[in-house]
Amino acid sequence: MKTFQLTRPKDSVQAIAATGKTKTAQQGADIRFIAGGTTLIDLMKLNVEQPQNLVDLNRLPLDKIEATPDGGLTIGATVRNSDLAWHPLVRKNYRVLSEAILSGATVQIRNMATTAGNLLQRTRCMYFRDPAMPCNKREPGTGCGAINGMNRGLAILGTSEHCIATNPSDMNVAMAALEATVHVRGGKGERPIPIADFHVLPGTTPQRETVLEPGDLITHVTLPPPAPGNRSLYLKLRDRTSYEFALASAAVVITGANGKITRARVALGGVGTKPWRSTEAEAELTDQPANEGTFRKAAEAALRGAKPQSQNAFKVDLAKRCLVHALKLATQPA
Ligand SMILES: Cc1cc2nc3c(=O)[nH]c(=O)nc-3n(C[C@H](O)[C@H](O)[C@H](O)COP(=O)(O)OP(=O)(O)OC[C@H]3O[C@@H](n4cnc5c(N)ncnc54)[C@H](O)[C@@H]3O)c2cc1C
Ligand code: SF4
Repeated sequence: MKTFQLTRPKDSVQAIAATGKTKTAQQGADIRFIAGGTTLIDLMKLNVEQPQNLVDLNRLPLDKIEATPDGGLTIGATVRNSDLAWHPLVRKNYRVLSEAILSGATVQIRNMATTAGNLLQRTRCMYFRDPAMPCNKREPGTGCGAINGMNRGLAILGTSEHCIATNPSDMNVAMAALEATVHVRGGKGERPIPIADFHVLPGTTPQRETVLEPGDLITHVTLPPPAPGNRSLYLKLRDRTSYEFALASAAVVITGANGKITRARVALGGVGTKPWRSTEAEAELTDQPANEGTFRKAAEAALRGAKPQSQNAFKVDLAKRCLVHALKLATQPA
């Protein structure tokens, strides 16, 4: 592993932006932010990430969770995943987020992992994590080892001929269903980015995973006020019940009255190259009776564009069943 300097945060954000050295603040850059370190240090040990300088964000005052005047929530970038999942307002108003975070990793990792770090965690594709293997995301132009290789856990939605890596985060799926906004501070000032626009599809440039620009720092995430009377949940299907990433998952936020769905927000995990909000499924659910027929139509709509690879065709049905079951649970009588 290369040696690196750990920089104090006070003057570093502007300094980083001024150097112009970084390709992005996150990916393949010489200067990198570090928060919990559970993604970055892992990848440095594997020689996948080789930053020269790390800027420790942990002393910045970005660790608060606060209600907003309109009834929403502000979540600081360095809020630990455990603190977020167990916060009373999150348990009460955003249950899907609490469940998604608690379904991920382990207690120890969640105690270290942060909100911003989770948003930016990188794929678990085995070729990406092994520098001896071809991987367009790690080293553009080298090819994609997974397309004709081990692709059982990889994506079926949003793929390209250059990369089929899954976004592995559970939290991101809940954030997508909750229509979170990511707030960023960088060389051009501050800007809010809706979560739907934050992660990008791989296309011809799989090395770029978000719209972040060089030096951009995530400061916080906001959630809109909860839809009145909604029920939300996260259902995660995986090979074992702990310490495992999703093969398919569903985050649903449903409002209904008299057996009819009046509002639906749906996102899928484990199947997309980015957290997969399905407006197609939402359209099939809205103003429809809350029954199995409706749920199945929504699941068909969500997976209509799926392009399975040699080893992961099973994910198409798995994701449909996952969504149907999540919708049943979210709409069954209390
Ligand atoms: C064994 C294991 C199992 C896991 N299982 C799961 C799972 O089942 N589900 C799941 O969702 N996740 C899982 N994870 C992933 C885990 O959730 C992430 O590693 C964690 O959320 C990353 O957060 P962090 O604060 O440690 O990030 P770091 O490693 O500190 O940073 C990650 C990236 O974000 C950048 N960054 C951090 N903060 C900022 C900021 N404020 N602004 C700009 N850039 C920033 C860093 O530069 C880096 O590129 C697992 C991890 C491990 C090691
Ligand atoms: S799927 Fe993406 S991350 Fe995996 S080997 Fe191919 S290019 Fe690399």
